[in-house]
Amino acid sequence: MFTVAARTLGYRVTVLDPDDASPAAEFATRHLRTAYTDAGSLDELARTCAAVTTEFENAPAESLDALATRTIVRPRGDSVAVAQDRALEKAFFAAHGFPLGPYALIMSPADLGQALERVRLPALLKTSRFGYDGKGQARIESAAELARVAREWKFVPCVLEEFLPLEREISVILGRTEAGEMAVFPVAENRHARGILDMTIAPARIPEALAAQATALATRLAETLEYVGVFAVEMFVVEGRLLLNEIAPRPHNSGHYTIDACRTSQFEQQVRVLCGLPLGDPSQHTPAVMVNLLGDIWNSPGRSRQYEGGTEPDWSAVLRHAGAHLHLYGKRETRPGRKMGHVTVCESSDERALEVALEIRRELGVER
Ligand code: AMP
Repeated sequence: MFTVAARTLGYRVTVLDPDDASPAAEFATRHLRTAYTDAGSLDELARTCAAVTTEFENAPAESLDALATRTIVRPRGDSVAVAQDRALEKAFFAAHGFPLGPYALIMSPADLGQALERVRLPALLKTSRFGYDGKGQARIESAAELARVAREWKFVPCVLEEFLPLEREISVILGRTEAGEMAVFPVAENRHARGILDMTIAPARIPEALAAQATALATRLAETLEYVGVFAVEMFVVEGRLLLNEIAPRPHNSGHYTIDACRTSQFEQQVRVLCGLPLGDPSQHTPAVMVNLLGDIWNSPGRSRQYEGGTEPDWSAVLRHAGAHLHLYGKRETRPGRKMGHVTVCESSDERALEVALEIRRELGVER
């Protein structure tokens, strides 16, 4: 979606992605089909690209740092590194006084006892690195279970978090320029299923004062990190208070609604920051609800039609609604839990948008 936005603005784009069937590469001018650390590809990017960014959480921070000595890189490797490691991220939040739920770091068997003094059960154990969409996470009910799972995971560095009674989950996405100018998108409300984003309602149905607090937290975080680019902050609402969950150093799934419902999309904003253009207006022109389309609904009991590779959802369930915008990413391989696309429903009221979104989910067989 970044590539589409950049091409729309007249830029040529080189995509570095090891995947032969890279959806981004289909829109790009060039595809470097190698590992993210490949010296030849990094050299090619540095020589031929006026600026480099990442849309992928786990692009190695070292690759970004190496590129930054030769071309413009936004966001910087150090900002990406903080978001790639939950332990670093928590330490950063705590050091700067951002509100967090109870947590403890687990690096070795010696940390287990102390962790259980700081974190009440039930809790969630999360690997510090390479976890996303509920992967690398386990619910922990007892001390014995904690010891067992940590051992099974070979004591890779983990964060143990108290399982919080979430009233809501929200996110704030913003763009920040090199000069420190910021444009903040409206606060989005997120519903998850199985640890994966299921639906985003925008704007979030929360009191204005809470939305203002969320925005203030996100902007302070961006300033503290001296972040340059587009980033997302996920937050929990617990007993009316905001707690930080995590940051994403890139456009975020909960900001996909901005494509159809805001004056500037999060992807165009990323292009603007990267290319040193003025920030676009992030204001929302239409209430919106975004529904994620996961691989589960391919070959599922919902309405579907045959195609060469199996059955595909019958998109007339989406397309018959005047306010519904279908986005399919062109991923060739379908897997349960894989994000294959999304639908954004734009309507005159948030109630109506939610009603239509729920109807589409039902018809497509999206389970809760
Ligand atoms: P994460 O990958 O850390 O964003 O976790 C994925 C989802 O799991 C979150 O969006 C929440 O729905 C849920 N979750 C994560 N951490 C907690 C927690 N400490 N307490 C309750 N639910 C959580």
